[in-house]
Amino acid sequence: MSGSQTPVPRQALLELVDVHKRFGGVAALRGVSFSVLAGEVLGLIGPNGSGKSTCVNVISGLLAPTSGVVRFLGETTAGIGVNRMVERGLARTFQTTSVFAEFTAMENVQAASHTRFGVGALAAVLGGGATGREEAEMRERGTQLLSLVGLDGAADVVAASLSSAQQRLLMIANALATEPRLLLLDEPAAGMVASERKALAALILRIRERGIGVLVIEHHMALIMEVCDRIVVLNFGEKIAQGASAEVGRDPRVIEAYLGQAH
Ligand code: ADP
Ligand code: MG
Repeated sequence: MSGSQTPVPRQALLELVDVHKRFGGVAALRGVSFSVLAGEVLGLIGPNGSGKSTCVNVISGLLAPTSGVVRFLGETTAGIGVNRMVERGLARTFQTTSVFAEFTAMENVQAASHTRFGVGALAAVLGGGATGREEAEMRERGTQLLSLVGLDGAADVVAASLSSAQQRLLMIANALATEPRLLLLDEPAAGMVASERKALAALILRIRERGIGVLVIEHHMALIMEVCDRIVVLNFGEKIAQGASAEVGRDPRVIEAYLGQAH
């Protein structure tokens, strides 16, 4: 049959090309290449110490790669720094919970949006120069974000009094408040029980539905299998496998890398 159609390639939000990162004598990343496409959830997995967090730190602009190229929306990220990466549309969460502990959940998302949208938002939170209408709009946006992550009832609760799982959801809401094209989640399920992980999986899929690309690092394989379109596997700083989630789960090198860790 003639006239078979070439599928239109989806845009790569993020590309890593032969990225190396050395800490003194430790080669934390050794020639890592992969892409995250628009509208996909990519899982980055690997045993402890395999370089996952280093990878996220390099992507988010916190660390410069020793060599290799990281491109976000087609432009190199070299020397850009964390704040400008956020302005370009990249947001992240951390392995260790990090929220504004003394602020309410609502104040958290409003303050977080300031990292991209300027001091107006922060001034408003601190009781300064926003007009009544600006304030109402910010509150509405905040309400929507808190509802998206499942913290509807907690808007006026101080972050420090939220449960640890709720604080992790708030960290995601704060990242989303910057309206990213790509969201990096470093072990989002840390400290969560099974029911909380299920809610998190549903949230990640809702985020994807909004057209936001997601790169998720996680060692709960059930969560990874549930939410990821594709998986990249690191071992000792090298990419040892990549592909559709189900295939990667059956890859003997991947199974060996995980068994090696257990023994
Ligand atoms: P993962 O997140 O997969 O557990 P990491 O990226 O945290 O792995 O670490 C990869 C390797 O790099 C480990 O050997 C770790 O000890 C080392 N490493 C990570 N960050 C630093 C750093 N800031 N200084 C020195 N070594 C580091
Ligand atoms: Mg890590």
